[in-house]
Amino acid sequence: MSQAKLQIDLNALAHNFSHLKSQLHSTTKFMAIVKANAYGNDAIIWSQTLEALGADYLAVAYSQEAITLRTAGIKLPILVFHPQQEDIENLIAYDLEATIYSLEQLRSYSDYLMASDKSHLNIHLNINTGLNRLGIRKEEVPEVITLLQNQNKLRLTWLMSHLAASDDLTQLSFSEQQAEAFEEVCHSIEVELNQVFKKHLLNSSGIFSLAHKQYDMVRSGIALHGYSNLQQIDPDLRVVATLKAKVTQVFQVSKGEYVGYNFGFQASRDMTAATVAIGHADGIDRKFGQKQNQVFFESTALPILGNICMDMFMVDVSPISIKAGDWVSIFDAQHNADLSAKSIGTISYELLCAIGSRVEREFILLEN
Ligand SMILES: *Cc1c(COP(=O)(O)O)cnc(C)c1O
Repeated sequence: MSQAKLQIDLNALAHNFSHLKSQLHSTTKFMAIVKANAYGNDAIIWSQTLEALGADYLAVAYSQEAITLRTAGIKLPILVFHPQQEDIENLIAYDLEATIYSLEQLRSYSDYLMASDKSHLNIHLNINTGLNRLGIRKEEVPEVITLLQNQNKLRLTWLMSHLAASDDLTQLSFSEQQAEAFEEVCHSIEVELNQVFKKHLLNSSGIFSLAHKQYDMVRSGIALHGYSNLQQIDPDLRVVATLKAKVTQVFQVSKGEYVGYNFGFQASRDMTAATVAIGHADGIDRKFGQKQNQVFFESTALPILGNICMDMFMVDVSPISIKAGDWVSIFDAQHNADLSAKSIGTISYELLCAIGSRVEREFILLEN
C-alpha cells in the first residue's frame, strides 16, 4: 500500500492541450515535451494520452527517454533535444529525430552515415540566438551549410531556437530580438540551400507572450501541467498533478520539547503534531522544513515542523482534528506547485521533476 501518491488527472491534461491549441493558428503544429518522465509524471501515459489527443510531435532530452517511448509503442515523431554522438545508431534504429546543436555533432553524424549503409536521419537545426546553452552560432552557419551540402543522409527538416526569458514580460524585447536573430539565420540558410524550412521557437510561456512568433510548430511542456508562468493566464489552465501523502502518526508534544533531527523545532506551547509519510528521498526539498512550507488538510494549512527527514516529516496539526490514515496534500489545484515552489525559491518545473520513483502515480483517466 502506497503512502505517497501523485494523482494525475488526464482530463486536466486534455483541457490544457485544447486550451493551448485554441491560442494557436489551426495550422500550427504542437510538440508536447515529455522529457524527464513528463516532468515527473509518467512519460508513457502522457505520451499515449497526447497521441490520442492529437499532438503532432513529442520531444525528450535524451535518446534513452525516446527509446522507452518507442518500446512502449508510441508512434508519433519524437525529437531528441540533446542527443550524444554515440547515439546515432539508436536514433536511426528507433526512428527518432535529432536536434543538431554543434558542428562536431553534425560532422560526426554525417561521417557516420556516409560511411554506413544506414538510411537517413531527420534533423532539426538548433540555432543559438542568446540562450547560450546549445546551438549553432551565426558564425558557424557557412560551415553547417557546407557540411549539409556534402552529404545526403542528414535531412534537414526543421530550424529551431529556444528563448531565454519568454516567461518574463519585462524582457519581451529580448525575446523579440531572439526571434529576429532566428529569422535572419533561417533566411541565410534558406537562401544558401535554396529551400524553405519549417520552424519552431516558442515554449509554453512563449505561446502566451509571443504568439506572433509561433511559426509552424510550438513546443510545450509546463503549460500542459497547468502552469503558464504567468499569473493572469494560470486560471485558464487546470493543474494536472496533486501530490498527497498519508499521515501515519498523530502525537502530543509538550511545551519545550523538540521535534525531529537536530532539534529542528522546539515547541513554544503544548501542541499536537503528525508525521507525514513523504520525505526528501521522494523529492521534498530540505528547504521545505523549518516552517518554510506547509501541507494542506481540506483547506487548513499545516506548517512543517523542523527538518525534513529522508522518508517523512512532521507537521503542526493543533488546530484541527486529523488521524493516522488521513491524507494531506503537498500541492494541489488550490495550493499549486508553483506557489509551493516559490516559497522555497524554486520553480514548479524543479518541484515536479524531483518527485521520486517511490511515489505511486495514480491516474484519473480520460472521460469518454
Ligand atoms: C524543455 C524544453 C521546452 C519546454 O519548455 P516549457 O517551458 O516547459 O514549455 C521547449 N523547448 C526546449 C528546447 C526545451 O528544452
